[in-house]
Amino acid sequence: MSDGGVVSDEAVSDGGDGGDLEHLLALQDLDTSVTQLQHRRDGLPEALGLTGVEAQLRALASEQADATARRAALTATQKELEEQIAVITERRGALEQRMYAATGSSGRDLQAMSDEVRHLTDRRSELEEQELVSMMEQDPIEAELAALQERATPLEQEAQVLRAQLTAAQHEIDDALAEAIEARTAAAARVPTALADRYETLRARLKGTGAARLIKSHCDGCHLELSSAEVERIRSLPPGEIATCEQCGRILVPV
Ligand SMILES: [Zn+2]
Repeated sequence: MSDGGVVSDEAVSDGGDGGDLEHLLALQDLDTSVTQLQHRRDGLPEALGLTGVEAQLRALASEQADATARRAALTATQKELEEQIAVITERRGALEQRMYAATGSSGRDLQAMSDEVRHLTDRRSELEEQELVSMMEQDPIEAELAALQERATPLEQEAQVLRAQLTAAQHEIDDALAEAIEARTAAAARVPTALADRYETLRARLKGTGAARLIKSHCDGCHLELSSAEVERIRSLPPGEIATCEQCGRILVPV
């Protein structure tokens, strides 16, 4: 327990007036602010809400796509039937014209034509029946699509509002971040290089906090209490000496 927590190396000393350590604490506070702002930016409630709404919209869009595909298949069938009906109608019309104009035709030819006309008429009725079925099957799909859109519309509006709120919140944080980063750069320039290097090494290892305050007898880096002897020792260090918390290893600055 001698001087384990004390670094008397001149290169990382405080410089004698305590100012370097104050600058270091200012730097730590700004780094903490930057981390908190980044954390807030990553966890904005608007983003969470938007993710939820977008997931619902994606599910609806997939149902819409499915219904639209079913409707398209029925529309294609209907079109195909209409084309077949048109061909039959034309063929029957031509036959009927020939029959009416066929004064010189034999009875057998007329009979054959009449049979075909009847056959075409039956076939057309069949196809018309199928077309009707296809059209009727489209009605519930139209209703389904309308219902899906009815559910999607308020969600789309909600997503739009959330997107705008999210952008505004992000901008606000980005402004604060830019300001904090600028102040951080200025604060870092005031800390001597060796001390700054040591701080950065500790910060990288200790969840973003490389320097902590000794408040009464507790370290605000690890929130543990130091023994009264250790507190006494640190508080009586000459101004040029830098102490570290014996529990978490952070640079400890008495305040
Ligand atoms: Zn500590």
